[in-house]
Amino acid sequence: MKPDVVVVGGGPAGSATALLLARAGVGVRIVERARFPRRKVCGEYLNAGAVAALGRLGVLEAVREVAMLLRGVRLVTPGAPPVELAFGGAALACAREVLDALLLDAAVAAGAVVEHARVDELVMEDGRCAGVRVRGDDGELTERRARFVVGADGVGSVVARRLGLTKPPRRGGRYAVGGHYAGFGPLDGHVEMYVGDGAYFALNPLSEIRANVMVVVPRERLAQWSRDVDAGVGGAAAALGRGVRSFEGATRLGPRVSIGPLTHDVRRPSAAGALLVGDAAGFLDPFTGQGVFLALTGAERAAEAILGALAAPGREAATFGAYAGWRATDVVWRRRLGRTVALLVAVPALARRSAARLARFPEAGATLIDALAGAIPPQRAFRPAVLGRLLV
Ligand SMILES: Cc1cc2nc3c(=O)[nH]c(=O)nc-3n(C[C@H](O)[C@H](O)[C@H](O)COP(=O)(O)OP(=O)(O)OC[C@H]3O[C@@H](n4cnc5c(N)ncnc54)[C@H](O)[C@@H]3O)c2cc1C
Repeated sequence: MKPDVVVVGGGPAGSATALLLARAGVGVRIVERARFPRRKVCGEYLNAGAVAALGRLGVLEAVREVAMLLRGVRLVTPGAPPVELAFGGAALACAREVLDALLLDAAVAAGAVVEHARVDELVMEDGRCAGVRVRGDDGELTERRARFVVGADGVGSVVARRLGLTKPPRRGGRYAVGGHYAGFGPLDGHVEMYVGDGAYFALNPLSEIRANVMVVVPRERLAQWSRDVDAGVGGAAAALGRGVRSFEGATRLGPRVSIGPLTHDVRRPSAAGALLVGDAAGFLDPFTGQGVFLALTGAERAAEAILGALAAPGREAATFGAYAGWRATDVVWRRRLGRTVALLVAVPALARRSAARLARFPEAGATLIDALAGAIPPQRAFRPAVLGRLLV
C-alpha cells in the first residue's frame, strides 16, 4: 500500500515526526540507512525543552530509566575560576544509541513501518516531490511513492540536496571527535565545558562513572592529530581542563566517533510535496546543545503542517508556509544565539570576561539557559540585562 508519508531518516526528528503522524492515523514509512542501535556523534545532553518534548511524545518515563539527571553546567575558561549555572528545568544525559532506538520503537508501536535502506534519489513529478528511490542491501534501486516526503536525514541531507535547497557550505567549519570514556574522577551531574584556543571540550556524565567526551576543533588541528587521534583528543582535553579535570586514567569505551565540517544550511525548509526537519533543515553550532530540542519541536511543527495539508490538499502552501515561518523566526534567533555564545567563548578575553560576569550576575545565566531550552523566546537573551550584562 502507498503510504501517505515517507520519512527519510529515523533519528529524533524523523522518528518523532513519524510517531505523531502515525498516532493521528496517517500511513508512514520510515526509510533509515543505519541498523539500530547506532551511534550518533553528539554530546548527548538533553536540555529541559527536549525533556518536555519527550514527555509530550509519551516516551519520557522510558528515557528517564536509562538517562542521567543533570543539575547544571560548569564552564571553565582560561584564566578564570569555573562558573556553575544550575539548569532551570530537568535536563538529562542519554546515550544516543539508546535514545534513538527508543524513539524509533515508539514510532513503530504507533503504527509506522521501518525499512532499512538508503535514499539516493527523489521521485519528481510536475515539479513536485512524489516519493523517494531507495537502495537496499542488494544494491537495487526501487521507488517508494507517497503524498509527502519528510527529509529528516540530518546534516548533508540527500533530500535537501536533491530538491536543490542546500546552501553552499560556509568555510572553516569545525570538526568534532570523541566517544564514551570511563576512569575520570567523580562525575557530579554537571555538564563540563572547557573552552579556549579556538576549541572546546565538553564532558557530559552519562552515569556516575561513564561520560561522553567531545572535542571540537578547527580542521588543521584534526590534521595534526592524524597519526594518533586518541592522544590528540586526550591532549586537547587535558590542556583545556587545565588542572580542573584530569584526563589521566581515562579510557575510551567503544569506538571513537568523529564528524565534520560542522556546517549545513538550506535556503528554505520545504518544497512542493516535501518538508525538511531537524538537522536536515539546518544545523546549529553544537556548543549550546539545542539540536535534539529542535529536532523534536521541529517534528511537532512538521507533523502539524502535514496533517493540515493531508486534511485539505489546497492548504499545503499555507501549512508548509507556516512551518517555514516558524523556522525563519525561532530557529534563526536560536542560530544567532548559538553563534553569539560560540563567539563569546572562542575569544579568550571575551570568554574570561563573560565567565566573570556570569559569576556576578547568575540571573543573566539563568535567562540564557531558559532561552536555549525554549522556556522563553530566544530573542529575550539579546536584551541588555542578559547578553549585554555578560559583555559590559
Ligand atoms: C559534536 C556534536 C555534539 C552535539 N551535541 C549535542 C548535545 O549535546 N545536545 C543536543 O541536543 N544536540 C547536540 N548535537 C546536535 C544533535 O546531534 C542533532 O541536532 C540531532 O541529532 C538532530 O537529529 P536529526 O534526527 O535531525 O538527525 P540525525 O540524528 O543525524 O538522524 C538522521 C538519520 O538519518 C539517517 N540517514 C541519513 N541519510 C540517509 C539516507 N540517505 N537514507 C536513509 N537514512 C538516512 C541517518 O542514518 C540518521 O539515523 C550535537 C551535534 C554534534 C555534531
